[in-house]
Parts: sequence; structure tokens; C-alpha cells
Amino acid sequence: MAAQIIDGKTIAQQVRAEWKERADALKARGITPGLAVIIVGEDPASKVYVANKVKACAELGLHSEHVVMSADTAEAALLAKIAELNSDSKIHGILVQLPVPKHINSSKVLEAISPDKDVDGFHPMNVGALATGNMRFAPCTPYGAMILLEKCGVPIEGKHAVVVGRSNIVGKPMALMLLQHNATVTICTSKTVDLAKYTRDADILVVATGKARMITGDMIKPGAAVIDVGINRLPDGKLCGDVDFDSAKEVAGWITPVPGGVGPMTITMLVANTVRAAERATR
Ligand code: NDP
Repeated sequence: MAAQIIDGKTIAQQVRAEWKERADALKARGITPGLAVIIVGEDPASKVYVANKVKACAELGLHSEHVVMSADTAEAALLAKIAELNSDSKIHGILVQLPVPKHINSSKVLEAISPDKDVDGFHPMNVGALATGNMRFAPCTPYGAMILLEKCGVPIEGKHAVVVGRSNIVGKPMALMLLQHNATVTICTSKTVDLAKYTRDADILVVATGKARMITGDMIKPGAAVIDVGINRLPDGKLCGDVDFDSAKEVAGWITPVPGGVGPMTITMLVANTVRAAERATR
């Protein structure tokens, strides 16, 4: 039987509506959640991401500030801007669009953001909070993937979840969240020997490698939930995931398409984290 296609766009709209209610409740108390997005340099893809983030805030009636800094901005100037935003009461969430230019130390930048305003969830304190089961701000992409699983009623507790990829922004936090939901978790990397042995045993398979269509239907357990985080540009300009959708959908129980699966959830969870930051700051 063909898989249920997980409609990320529709679920993202539902989740945004839920968080809009929470934002409206804050606004009724005179508090408008505010997000500051800092971009350093002219990377075209980053500019698109930042524009979409600012737009999503506007849709929910959030305050947003878009700070554009030139590619030759000194690290000290960026840190000074972050310090200013850390003490700005109109701003509840701060995000520095990655990657930053090479002369800037990204770890130093992420650590400069107040953990209370760290809506990307990359500050070591928030990473630690997630690792110790006290999640405050989870990184937006894996957080969105978890919400997709929950909204689709995919059983997690006691299931074997396999995460392919161990990046700090997707794979590792995804694995921690699945563990927090009582899945038995395996993490695979480029060094894993016989990847298919693990993926074929997965009740939940999350793939975040950046390798176009590397997971094929024969690597998937019948009925599994397949979450494809990858976004790859093919030579013909079309987008595809890390999973070969056509063969995988014949085997899986649930599957996210690319585009239209995990992607729409990422910005939604950023907005959610901003509203949560405002709630935490004002309770
Ligand atoms: P990274 O390049 O940081 O990490 C990729 C991970 O995949 C690494 O851990 C790497 O292993 C692993 N890997 C690579 N090749 C293989 C392989 N053949 N077998 C097993 N594991 C492998 O990528 P990100 O986590 O940042 O992103 C992953 C994908 O998700 C990309 O396509 C990206 O565009 C997409 N993405 C989508 C987002 C969205 O909003 N939907 C947001 C963020 C990312 P090792 O550690 O051993 O090198």
C-alpha cells in the first residue's frame, strides 16, 4: 500500500494558527513578540531565508527587525550588535543567519546570544537543556520534524528510530528529541558500515545528509515513517530530498515530500520559539 504523504504545508498552517493564538494572547497583555534576524554578507540563499523569516513574523503579527551587516563586518561589531539586542526589551528572539563570513567565529557568535533569546536553539546552554531532557528552545528543523510525527499520529514510544546524519542543527537534536519521546535511537553517519542494515530496521527513519535520493525504497522497512530533511538542487533546477521519494512511497507508511514536507515547518517553529521566548520573558 502506498504511504500517507505528510503534508507539511497544511500542518505548518495549523501549527502557525495555534501559535498565533498564543501571540494574540500576549498582545492582549500589551506584549508583541519580537524577532531580530541578523544577516552578515550577501549570500543569495541566506537572503531568501531571512526574507521568509521576516515575512512569517509579519503574518502572525509579530514585531521583527532585519539587521543587514556587510560581509567585511568585524567580529567585534557583530558581537556588539548582539549585545545591544540582548538588552532590547522589544526583542525576544535573536537569530544570526548561518553561515557567517569565514573571518567570524560562529561558535563565539552563537554563544554571545542570550540563551533566553536563542530561538534557533544553538547556544550550548540550550543544547545542554535538550540533552538533559529539559528542552527550552529546540533547533527549528528537527523540532518541526517532531511535530509532523506527532500531528500524523506516528507512534514513537518503544519504536526504533534511525537518524541518518549527526549535524548539530538537525541530526543530533533530532535524535535527542526522539529519545526524549522514548524511542530507541540509532544515529548513522558517513562512517556507518552497511547503512541499509540500520535503515531497514527503522520504524521511524529521519534522513538529513544532503545527499540527493541516497535512501531508496529497498532500504526502508514496510510501514515505516520516513522524514526527509534533505533539500538538494538537481541539475535541472528541481528540488529533491535525501530519500528517493518514488520508490520509498511504495514501501513506507508515512513519508514527507520535498518540497512541502519538513521545509515549511522550519520557519513555523522559529515563530513558535519566538512566541515562547516572549511568554518566558514576561510570565
Ligand atoms: P551536514 O552536512 O552538516 O551533515 C550531514 C550529515 O550526513 C553528516 O553527519 C554526515 O556524516 C552524514 N552523511 C553524509 N553522507 C552520508 C552517507 N552516505 N551515509 C550516512 N550519513 C551520511 O548537513 P545538515 O544536517 O546541515 O543538513 C542535511 C540536509 O538537510 C541538507 O540537505 C540540508 O540542505 C537540509 N536541511 C534542511 C532544512 C530544512 O529547513 N528543511 C534545514 C537544515 C538542513 P559525517 O558526520 O560522518 O560527515
